[in-house]
Amino acid sequence: MGRDAAGNKVTGTGEKMKACKQMLVLLIAAAMFCPMAGRSAEPERPNIVFILADDLGYGDVGAYGCKDIQTPNLDQLAATGVRLTDGYASAPYCGPSRAGLMTGRYQQRHGFRHNPAIQQGGSPLGLDAGEETLGDVMTRAGYRTAAYGKWHLGASECFHPNNRGFYEFYGFLGGGHCYFPMQYADKMKAWANQPDRPVTDLYMYATPLQINGIDLPPQEGYLTDLLTTQAIAFMKGFQHRPLFLYIAYNAPHVPLEAPQEYLDKYSNIQNKDRRTYAAMVDNLDWNVGRILAALDELGKRDNTLVVFMSDNGGPEKNGADNGPLRGQKGDTTEGGVRVPFIFNWPGGLPHGREVHVPISSLDLLPTFVALGGVEPAGKPLDGVNVLPWLRGEAKGIPHEQLFWDRDGKCGMRAGDYKVFRMKEGAPWTLCNLTEDIGEQKDLSAQMPEKVEAMSAAYGAWLDPMPPARWTDPQQ
Ligand code: CA
Repeated sequence: MGRDAAGNKVTGTGEKMKACKQMLVLLIAAAMFCPMAGRSAEPERPNIVFILADDLGYGDVGAYGCKDIQTPNLDQLAATGVRLTDGYASAPYCGPSRAGLMTGRYQQRHGFRHNPAIQQGGSPLGLDAGEETLGDVMTRAGYRTAAYGKWHLGASECFHPNNRGFYEFYGFLGGGHCYFPMQYADKMKAWANQPDRPVTDLYMYATPLQINGIDLPPQEGYLTDLLTTQAIAFMKGFQHRPLFLYIAYNAPHVPLEAPQEYLDKYSNIQNKDRRTYAAMVDNLDWNVGRILAALDELGKRDNTLVVFMSDNGGPEKNGADNGPLRGQKGDTTEGGVRVPFIFNWPGGLPHGREVHVPISSLDLLPTFVALGGVEPAGKPLDGVNVLPWLRGEAKGIPHEQLFWDRDGKCGMRAGDYKVFRMKEGAPWTLCNLTEDIGEQKDLSAQMPEKVEAMSAAYGAWLDPMPPARWTDPQQ
Protein backbone atom coordinates (compact mmCIF):
# COMPACT_ATOMS: atom_id res chain seq x y z
CA MET A 1 0.00 0.00 0.00
CA GLY A 2 1.36 3.50 -0.94
CA ARG A 3 0.25 7.12 -0.82
CA ASP A 4 -0.80 9.54 -3.57
CA ALA A 5 0.54 13.04 -4.06
CA ALA A 6 -1.87 14.35 -1.47
CA GLY A 7 -0.64 11.78 1.00
CA ASN A 8 -3.83 9.67 0.89
CA LYS A 9 -3.50 5.92 1.19
CA VAL A 10 -3.82 4.12 -2.16
CA THR A 11 -4.29 0.42 -2.86
CA GLY A 12 -2.42 -1.48 -5.55
CA THR A 13 -4.12 -3.90 -7.98
CA GLY A 14 -3.07 -6.95 -6.04
CA GLU A 15 -4.35 -5.47 -2.84
CA LYS A 16 -7.58 -4.42 -4.62
CA MET A 17 -8.17 -8.03 -5.69
CA LYS A 18 -7.47 -9.16 -2.16
CA ALA A 19 -9.96 -6.60 -0.86
CA CYS A 20 -12.51 -7.73 -3.46
CA LYS A 21 -12.07 -11.36 -2.43
CA GLN A 22 -12.52 -10.41 1.19
CA MET A 23 -15.69 -8.52 0.29
CA LEU A 24 -16.98 -11.53 -1.67
CA VAL A 25 -16.38 -13.81 1.30
CA LEU A 26 -18.25 -11.38 3.51
CA LEU A 27 -21.18 -11.22 1.09
CA ILE A 28 -21.38 -15.02 0.83
CA ALA A 29 -21.23 -15.31 4.60
CA ALA A 30 -23.97 -12.70 4.96
CA ALA A 31 -26.12 -14.58 2.46
CA MET A 32 -25.58 -17.86 4.30
CA PHE A 33 -26.79 -16.34 7.55
CA CYS A 34 -29.71 -14.48 6.01
CA PRO A 35 -32.87 -16.56 6.46
CA MET A 36 -34.32 -15.15 3.24
CA ALA A 37 -31.26 -16.19 1.19
CA GLY A 38 -32.27 -17.94 -1.99
CA ARG A 39 -35.84 -16.65 -1.71
CA SER A 40 -35.35 -13.41 -3.57
CA ALA A 41 -37.43 -14.63 -6.51
CA GLU A 42 -40.34 -15.50 -4.24
CA PRO A 43 -42.75 -13.02 -2.69
CA GLU A 44 -41.77 -12.05 0.82
CA ARG A 45 -43.47 -14.30 3.31
CA PRO A 46 -45.80 -12.49 5.69
CA ASN A 47 -45.28 -12.06 9.39
CA ILE A 48 -48.05 -13.75 11.35
CA VAL A 49 -49.52 -12.37 14.57
CA PHE A 50 -52.10 -14.71 16.04
CA ILE A 51 -54.08 -13.07 18.84
CA LEU A 52 -56.19 -15.36 21.00
CA ALA A 53 -58.74 -14.01 23.47
CA ASP A 54 -59.94 -16.17 26.35
CA ASP A 55 -63.66 -16.77 26.94
CA LEU A 56 -64.75 -13.88 24.70
CA GLY A 57 -68.36 -14.29 23.58
CA TYR A 58 -69.54 -14.24 19.97
CA GLY A 59 -71.58 -11.12 20.70
CA ASP A 60 -68.92 -9.18 22.62
CA VAL A 61 -67.23 -7.42 19.69
CA GLY A 62 -68.77 -4.52 17.80
CA ALA A 63 -68.15 -6.23 14.47
CA TYR A 64 -70.29 -9.11 15.76
CA GLY A 65 -73.17 -6.95 16.95
CA CYS A 66 -72.05 -5.83 20.41
CA LYS A 67 -73.61 -2.51 21.44
CA ASP A 68 -72.32 -1.82 24.93
CA ILE A 69 -68.57 -2.51 24.64
CA GLN A 70 -66.37 -0.35 22.46
CA THR A 71 -63.98 -2.39 20.30
CA PRO A 72 -62.87 0.06 17.57
CA ASN A 73 -59.61 -1.72 16.76
CA LEU A 74 -61.19 -5.14 16.34
CA ASP A 75 -64.01 -3.58 14.35
CA GLN A 76 -61.47 -1.93 12.07
CA LEU A 77 -59.59 -5.21 11.78
CA ALA A 78 -62.80 -6.86 10.59
CA ALA A 79 -63.81 -3.97 8.33
CA THR A 80 -60.46 -4.00 6.54
CA GLY A 81 -59.98 -7.76 6.57
CA VAL A 82 -62.00 -10.95 6.43
CA ARG A 83 -64.69 -11.49 9.04
CA LEU A 84 -65.86 -15.04 9.59
CA THR A 85 -69.48 -15.47 10.59
CA ASP A 86 -69.05 -19.22 11.06
CA GLY A 87 -65.66 -19.44 12.74
CA TYR A 88 -65.23 -22.19 15.31
CA ALA A 89 -62.97 -23.35 18.09
CA SER A 90 -62.42 -27.10 18.19
CA ALA A 91 -63.52 -27.33 21.83
CA PRO A 92 -65.86 -25.39 24.13
CA TYR A 93 -63.20 -24.67 26.72
CA CYS A 94 -59.62 -23.62 27.27
CA GLY A 95 -57.01 -26.38 27.32
CA PRO A 96 -58.52 -28.71 24.70
CA SER A 97 -59.23 -25.76 22.39
CA ARG A 98 -55.58 -24.72 22.55
CA ALA A 99 -54.41 -28.31 21.99
CA GLY A 100 -56.46 -28.37 18.78
CA LEU A 101 -55.38 -25.03 17.35
CA MET A 102 -51.74 -25.63 18.30
CA THR A 103 -51.59 -28.89 16.31
CA GLY A 104 -54.15 -28.53 13.51
CA ARG A 105 -55.55 -31.84 14.72
CA TYR A 106 -58.60 -32.64 16.76
CA GLN A 107 -57.26 -32.71 20.30
CA GLN A 108 -59.10 -36.00 20.84
CA ARG A 109 -56.54 -37.59 18.48
CA HIS A 110 -53.84 -37.05 21.06
CA GLY A 111 -55.88 -37.61 24.20
CA PHE A 112 -56.07 -33.93 25.22
CA ARG A 113 -59.75 -33.89 26.14
CA HIS A 114 -59.57 -31.97 29.43
CA ASN A 115 -57.66 -29.16 31.06
CA PRO A 116 -54.34 -30.29 32.49
CA ALA A 117 -53.84 -29.62 36.20
CA ILE A 118 -52.28 -26.25 36.74
CA GLN A 119 -48.65 -25.85 37.76
CA GLN A 120 -47.51 -29.33 38.57
CA GLY A 121 -43.79 -29.52 38.08
CA GLY A 122 -42.89 -32.99 36.80
CA SER A 123 -46.49 -33.71 35.87
CA PRO A 124 -46.96 -35.90 32.80
CA LEU A 125 -50.04 -33.89 31.83
CA GLY A 126 -49.51 -31.83 28.71
CA LEU A 127 -49.53 -31.69 24.94
CA ASP A 128 -48.25 -35.00 23.58
CA ALA A 129 -44.57 -34.73 22.66
CA GLY A 130 -45.27 -36.48 19.37
CA GLU A 131 -47.42 -33.61 18.15
CA GLU A 132 -45.90 -30.84 16.04
CA THR A 133 -46.96 -27.36 17.22
CA LEU A 134 -47.46 -24.04 15.51
CA GLY A 135 -44.15 -22.97 17.03
CA ASP A 136 -42.36 -26.05 15.68
CA VAL A 137 -43.53 -25.63 12.11
CA MET A 138 -42.97 -21.89 11.95
CA THR A 139 -39.48 -22.30 13.41
CA ARG A 140 -38.81 -24.88 10.73
CA ALA A 141 -40.01 -22.35 8.18
CA GLY A 142 -37.34 -19.92 9.35
CA TYR A 143 -39.65 -17.68 11.38
CA ARG A 144 -38.61 -16.17 14.70
CA THR A 145 -41.35 -17.41 17.03
CA ALA A 146 -42.70 -16.12 20.32
CA ALA A 147 -45.60 -16.91 22.64
CA TYR A 148 -47.15 -14.59 25.19
CA GLY A 149 -49.70 -15.04 27.94
CA LYS A 150 -51.59 -18.20 28.72
CA TRP A 151 -50.11 -21.56 27.76
CA HIS A 152 -52.30 -24.24 29.40
CA LEU A 153 -50.66 -27.06 27.45
CA GLY A 154 -48.65 -28.51 30.32
CA ALA A 155 -46.51 -27.04 33.08
CA SER A 156 -43.57 -29.45 33.18
CA GLU A 157 -40.33 -28.58 31.45
CA CYS A 158 -40.93 -30.92 28.52
CA PHE A 159 -44.18 -29.08 27.75
CA HIS A 160 -42.76 -25.60 28.18
CA PRO A 161 -43.31 -23.28 25.19
CA ASN A 162 -39.53 -22.95 24.76
CA ASN A 163 -39.47 -26.71 24.21
CA ARG A 164 -42.46 -26.65 21.87
CA GLY A 165 -41.11 -24.39 19.18
CA PHE A 166 -41.25 -20.93 20.71
CA TYR A 167 -38.00 -18.98 20.89
CA GLU A 168 -39.41 -16.57 23.47
CA PHE A 169 -42.12 -17.09 26.04
CA TYR A 170 -43.44 -14.52 28.47
CA GLY A 171 -46.49 -15.34 30.53
CA PHE A 172 -47.76 -18.18 32.70
CA LEU A 173 -48.20 -21.90 32.19
CA GLY A 174 -51.58 -22.47 33.83
CA GLY A 175 -55.15 -21.74 32.84
CA GLY A 176 -55.49 -18.23 34.19
CA HIS A 177 -53.77 -15.44 36.05
CA CYS A 178 -54.48 -12.42 38.18
CA TYR A 179 -54.29 -9.17 36.23
CA PHE A 180 -52.52 -6.93 38.73
CA PRO A 181 -49.38 -8.85 39.72
CA MET A 182 -48.45 -6.37 42.47
CA GLN A 183 -51.73 -7.03 44.27
CA TYR A 184 -50.71 -10.68 44.54
CA ALA A 185 -47.04 -10.07 45.26
CA ASP A 186 -47.06 -11.73 48.67
CA LYS A 187 -48.84 -14.81 47.36
CA MET A 188 -46.47 -15.06 44.44
CA LYS A 189 -43.38 -14.86 46.59
CA ALA A 190 -44.76 -17.43 49.03
CA TRP A 191 -45.58 -19.83 46.21
CA ALA A 192 -42.22 -19.42 44.51
CA ASN A 193 -40.37 -20.07 47.76
CA GLN A 194 -42.03 -23.41 48.41
CA PRO A 195 -40.12 -26.35 46.95
CA ASP A 196 -43.26 -28.35 46.12
CA ARG A 197 -45.14 -25.35 44.67
CA PRO A 198 -48.58 -26.55 45.75
CA VAL A 199 -51.54 -26.77 43.42
CA THR A 200 -54.28 -24.90 45.21
CA ASP A 201 -56.90 -22.34 44.34
CA LEU A 202 -55.02 -19.88 46.51
CA TYR A 203 -52.02 -19.88 44.23
CA MET A 204 -53.11 -21.06 40.85
CA TYR A 205 -53.75 -17.61 39.39
CA ALA A 206 -50.96 -15.97 41.36
CA THR A 207 -47.90 -17.84 40.13
CA PRO A 208 -44.99 -15.62 39.11
CA LEU A 209 -44.98 -14.44 35.53
CA GLN A 210 -41.99 -15.89 33.76
CA ILE A 211 -39.81 -15.23 30.78
CA ASN A 212 -38.25 -18.29 29.16
CA GLY A 213 -38.62 -20.35 32.31
CA ILE A 214 -37.26 -17.73 34.68
CA ASP A 215 -39.67 -16.49 37.34
CA LEU A 216 -40.01 -12.71 37.42
CA PRO A 217 -40.63 -10.59 40.50
CA PRO A 218 -44.15 -9.12 40.63
CA GLN A 219 -44.49 -6.30 38.13
CA GLU A 220 -46.43 -3.07 38.25
CA GLY A 221 -49.19 -2.78 35.72
CA TYR A 222 -52.09 -4.67 34.18
CA LEU A 223 -51.41 -8.05 32.66
CA THR A 224 -52.95 -7.46 29.22
CA ASP A 225 -50.82 -4.32 28.90
CA LEU A 226 -47.67 -6.13 30.09
CA LEU A 227 -48.08 -8.97 27.59
CA THR A 228 -48.52 -6.49 24.77
CA THR A 229 -45.47 -4.46 25.77
CA GLN A 230 -43.30 -7.57 25.69
CA ALA A 231 -44.71 -8.68 22.33
CA ILE A 232 -44.00 -5.27 20.81
CA ALA A 233 -40.44 -5.32 22.16
CA PHE A 234 -39.95 -8.68 20.45
CA MET A 235 -41.26 -7.35 17.15
CA LYS A 236 -38.84 -4.46 17.35
CA GLY A 237 -35.95 -6.74 18.26
CA PHE A 238 -36.19 -9.13 15.32
CA GLN A 239 -36.90 -7.01 12.29
CA HIS A 240 -34.85 -8.89 9.72
CA ARG A 241 -36.64 -12.20 9.56
CA PRO A 242 -40.30 -13.19 9.37
CA LEU A 243 -42.03 -13.27 12.72
CA PHE A 244 -44.63 -15.57 14.19
CA LEU A 245 -46.24 -14.28 17.37
CA TYR A 246 -48.84 -16.19 19.36
CA ILE A 247 -50.36 -13.67 21.76
CA ALA A 248 -52.70 -15.60 24.04
CA TYR A 249 -54.30 -12.98 26.27
CA ASN A 250 -56.12 -14.39 29.26
CA ALA A 251 -58.60 -11.52 29.08
CA PRO A 252 -61.51 -11.56 29.58
CA HIS A 253 -61.23 -14.87 31.50
CA VAL A 254 -61.71 -14.71 35.29
CA PRO A 255 -60.65 -13.24 37.67
CA LEU A 256 -62.72 -10.27 36.56
CA GLU A 257 -60.26 -7.42 37.12
CA ALA A 258 -59.88 -4.25 35.09
CA PRO A 259 -58.01 -0.94 35.36
CA GLN A 260 -60.04 1.77 37.06
CA GLU A 261 -60.06 4.10 34.04
CA TYR A 262 -61.71 1.37 31.99
CA LEU A 263 -64.22 0.59 34.75
CA ASP A 264 -65.09 4.29 34.89
CA LYS A 265 -65.79 4.25 31.17
CA TYR A 266 -68.52 1.63 31.70
CA SER A 267 -70.08 3.02 34.85
CA ASN A 268 -73.41 3.04 32.97
CA ILE A 269 -73.51 -0.78 33.00
CA GLN A 270 -75.44 -1.77 36.11
CA ASN A 271 -74.36 -5.40 36.34
CA LYS A 272 -70.97 -5.34 38.05
CA ASP A 273 -69.65 -8.45 36.29
CA ARG A 274 -70.72 -7.19 32.87
CA ARG A 275 -69.18 -3.80 33.69
CA THR A 276 -65.84 -5.34 34.61
CA TYR A 277 -65.98 -7.74 31.69
CA ALA A 278 -66.69 -4.83 29.34
CA ALA A 279 -63.74 -2.91 30.75
CA MET A 280 -61.47 -5.94 30.22
CA VAL A 281 -62.61 -6.35 26.62
CA ASP A 282 -62.19 -2.63 25.94
CA ASN A 283 -58.64 -2.82 27.27
CA LEU A 284 -57.99 -5.95 25.20
CA ASP A 285 -59.13 -4.04 22.13
CA TRP A 286 -56.85 -1.13 23.02
CA ASN A 287 -53.93 -3.53 23.24
CA VAL A 288 -54.77 -5.02 19.85
CA GLY A 289 -54.54 -1.43 18.64
CA ARG A 290 -51.08 -1.14 20.17
CA ILE A 291 -49.94 -4.25 18.27
CA LEU A 292 -51.28 -2.83 15.00
CA ALA A 293 -49.67 0.56 15.66
CA ALA A 294 -46.32 -1.12 16.32
CA LEU A 295 -46.58 -3.01 13.04
CA ASP A 296 -47.33 0.28 11.29
CA GLU A 297 -44.38 1.93 12.96
CA LEU A 298 -42.08 -0.87 11.86
CA GLY A 299 -43.39 -0.72 8.30
CA LYS A 300 -44.63 -4.29 8.63
CA ARG A 301 -48.38 -3.82 8.66
CA ASP A 302 -48.91 -4.40 4.95
CA ASN A 303 -47.19 -7.76 5.02
CA THR A 304 -48.43 -9.09 8.33
CA LEU A 305 -51.32 -11.48 8.70
CA VAL A 306 -53.16 -10.72 11.93
CA VAL A 307 -55.60 -13.35 13.10
CA PHE A 308 -57.93 -12.76 16.01
CA MET A 309 -60.24 -15.27 17.65
CA SER A 310 -61.51 -16.48 21.01
CA ASP A 311 -60.61 -19.92 22.36
CA ASN A 312 -64.25 -20.72 23.18
CA GLY A 313 -67.60 -19.09 23.81
CA GLY A 314 -68.29 -16.68 26.65
CA PRO A 315 -69.44 -17.78 30.12
CA GLU A 316 -72.65 -16.01 31.07
CA LYS A 317 -71.70 -15.92 34.77
CA ASN A 318 -68.86 -13.56 33.83
CA GLY A 319 -71.21 -11.22 32.01
CA ALA A 320 -70.25 -12.52 28.56
CA ASP A 321 -72.75 -12.33 25.71
CA ASN A 322 -72.86 -14.90 22.93
CA GLY A 323 -75.26 -12.84 20.85
CA PRO A 324 -77.91 -14.88 19.08
CA LEU A 325 -76.24 -18.20 19.82
CA ARG A 326 -77.54 -20.93 22.12
CA GLY A 327 -75.49 -21.90 25.15
CA GLN A 328 -72.12 -20.73 26.41
CA LYS A 329 -68.59 -21.79 27.31
CA GLY A 330 -68.53 -25.52 27.95
CA ASP A 331 -71.46 -26.27 25.63
CA THR A 332 -71.30 -27.90 22.24
CA THR A 333 -74.18 -25.81 21.01
CA GLU A 334 -73.04 -22.80 18.98
CA GLY A 335 -72.59 -20.51 21.98
CA GLY A 336 -69.78 -22.72 23.26
CA VAL A 337 -67.79 -23.07 20.06
CA ARG A 338 -68.68 -20.36 17.51
CA VAL A 339 -66.46 -17.37 18.18
CA PRO A 340 -65.37 -14.00 16.80
CA PHE A 341 -62.78 -14.91 14.17
CA ILE A 342 -61.03 -12.36 11.94
CA PHE A 343 -58.20 -12.55 9.40
CA ASN A 344 -56.53 -9.32 8.31
CA TRP A 345 -53.58 -9.02 5.91
CA PRO A 346 -53.58 -5.77 3.95
CA GLY A 347 -51.11 -7.04 1.38
CA GLY A 348 -52.57 -10.49 0.92
CA LEU A 349 -56.27 -10.76 1.70
CA PRO A 350 -59.42 -8.95 0.58
CA HIS A 351 -60.57 -5.91 2.52
CA GLY A 352 -64.01 -5.95 4.05
CA ARG A 353 -64.99 -9.46 3.04
CA GLU A 354 -67.36 -11.72 4.95
CA VAL A 355 -66.97 -15.47 4.80
CA HIS A 356 -69.85 -17.71 5.78
CA VAL A 357 -68.42 -21.19 5.25
CA PRO A 358 -67.44 -23.03 8.44
CA ILE A 359 -63.79 -22.45 9.29
CA SER A 360 -62.12 -23.98 12.34
CA SER A 361 -59.22 -23.11 14.60
CA LEU A 362 -57.81 -26.42 13.29
CA ASP A 363 -57.26 -24.62 9.98
CA LEU A 364 -54.73 -22.18 11.36
CA LEU A 365 -51.72 -24.49 11.33
CA PRO A 366 -52.21 -25.65 7.72
CA THR A 367 -52.83 -22.05 6.65
CA PHE A 368 -49.78 -20.70 8.45
CA VAL A 369 -47.44 -23.40 7.13
CA ALA A 370 -48.67 -22.70 3.60
CA LEU A 371 -47.69 -19.07 4.09
CA GLY A 372 -44.40 -20.14 5.61
CA GLY A 373 -43.58 -22.30 2.61
CA VAL A 374 -43.09 -25.57 4.45
CA GLU A 375 -44.98 -28.82 4.78
CA PRO A 376 -46.20 -30.15 8.12
CA ALA A 377 -43.80 -32.90 9.12
CA GLY A 378 -46.07 -34.49 11.67
CA LYS A 379 -49.21 -36.54 11.53
CA PRO A 380 -52.21 -36.09 9.20
CA LEU A 381 -54.04 -32.83 9.85
CA ASP A 382 -57.73 -32.22 10.36
CA GLY A 383 -57.47 -28.58 9.33
CA VAL A 384 -56.96 -27.27 5.81
CA ASN A 385 -55.32 -24.21 4.28
CA VAL A 386 -58.27 -21.80 4.12
CA LEU A 387 -56.57 -18.99 2.15
CA PRO A 388 -58.59 -19.87 -1.00
CA TRP A 389 -61.84 -19.42 0.96
CA LEU A 390 -60.66 -16.23 2.61
CA ARG A 391 -59.81 -14.86 -0.85
CA GLY A 392 -63.05 -16.02 -2.43
CA GLU A 393 -61.19 -18.26 -4.85
CA ALA A 394 -62.50 -21.63 -3.68
CA LYS A 395 -65.74 -23.40 -4.40
CA GLY A 396 -67.46 -25.62 -1.90
CA ILE A 397 -66.69 -25.61 1.80
CA PRO A 398 -63.45 -26.42 3.60
CA HIS A 399 -65.12 -28.90 5.97
CA GLU A 400 -67.97 -31.18 4.98
CA GLN A 401 -68.12 -32.16 8.63
CA LEU A 402 -66.99 -30.59 11.90
CA PHE A 403 -67.16 -32.31 15.29
CA TRP A 404 -67.14 -31.32 18.93
CA ASP A 405 -67.17 -33.59 21.94
CA ARG A 406 -66.90 -33.01 25.64
CA ASP A 407 -67.55 -36.23 27.53
CA GLY A 408 -70.60 -37.14 25.51
CA LYS A 409 -71.89 -33.58 25.31
CA CYS A 410 -71.35 -33.22 21.61
CA GLY A 411 -72.12 -31.58 18.30
CA MET A 412 -71.61 -32.22 14.61
CA ARG A 413 -72.06 -29.78 11.72
CA ALA A 414 -72.55 -30.77 8.10
CA GLY A 415 -73.34 -27.90 5.76
CA ASP A 416 -76.33 -25.96 7.04
CA TYR A 417 -77.26 -28.60 9.57
CA LYS A 418 -76.07 -29.40 13.05
CA VAL A 419 -76.94 -32.17 15.48
CA PHE A 420 -76.10 -31.91 19.14
CA ARG A 421 -76.99 -33.45 22.44
CA MET A 422 -76.61 -31.97 25.90
CA LYS A 423 -75.15 -35.08 27.55
CA GLU A 424 -74.22 -38.68 26.87
CA GLY A 425 -77.30 -40.69 25.95
CA ALA A 426 -79.58 -37.63 25.66
CA PRO A 427 -81.74 -37.34 22.55
CA TRP A 428 -80.25 -35.60 19.53
CA THR A 429 -81.46 -32.20 18.43
CA LEU A 430 -81.23 -31.25 14.76
CA CYS A 431 -81.18 -27.64 13.58
CA ASN A 432 -80.70 -25.75 10.35
CA LEU A 433 -78.12 -23.11 11.30
CA THR A 434 -78.70 -21.01 8.20
CA GLU A 435 -82.35 -20.52 9.10
CA ASP A 436 -82.01 -20.86 12.85
CA ILE A 437 -78.68 -19.61 14.20
CA GLY A 438 -80.03 -19.82 17.76
CA GLU A 439 -80.68 -23.60 17.49
CA GLN A 440 -84.22 -23.15 18.75
CA LYS A 441 -86.21 -25.24 16.28
CA ASP A 442 -85.64 -28.98 16.62
CA LEU A 443 -86.08 -30.71 13.27
CA SER A 444 -85.19 -34.19 14.47
CA ALA A 445 -88.75 -35.52 14.29
CA GLN A 446 -89.15 -34.19 10.76
CA MET A 447 -85.79 -35.44 9.47
CA PRO A 448 -84.92 -38.65 11.36
CA GLU A 449 -82.75 -39.97 8.50
CA LYS A 450 -80.53 -36.90 8.71
CA VAL A 451 -80.21 -37.29 12.47
CA GLU A 452 -79.26 -40.92 12.03
CA ALA A 453 -76.68 -40.18 9.34
CA MET A 454 -75.09 -37.27 11.22
CA SER A 455 -75.01 -38.99 14.59
CA ALA A 456 -73.51 -42.07 12.94
CA ALA A 457 -70.81 -39.86 11.40
CA TYR A 458 -70.09 -38.44 14.83
CA GLY A 459 -69.74 -41.95 16.24
CA ALA A 460 -67.45 -42.99 13.39
CA TRP A 461 -65.28 -39.94 14.10
CA LEU A 462 -65.03 -40.40 17.86
CA ASP A 463 -64.88 -44.19 18.20
CA PRO A 464 -61.29 -44.68 16.95
CA MET A 465 -59.94 -41.89 19.18
CA PRO A 466 -57.67 -42.86 22.07
CA PRO A 467 -59.08 -42.40 25.57
CA ALA A 468 -58.56 -39.18 27.48
CA ARG A 469 -55.08 -39.06 28.99
CA TRP A 470 -56.43 -37.38 32.15
CA THR A 471 -59.60 -35.88 33.54
CA ASP A 472 -60.24 -32.31 34.53
CA PRO A 473 -58.40 -31.37 37.73
CA GLN A 474 -61.61 -30.26 39.40
CA GLN A 475 -63.39 -33.53 38.61
CA1 CA B 1 -61.15 -20.15 27.43
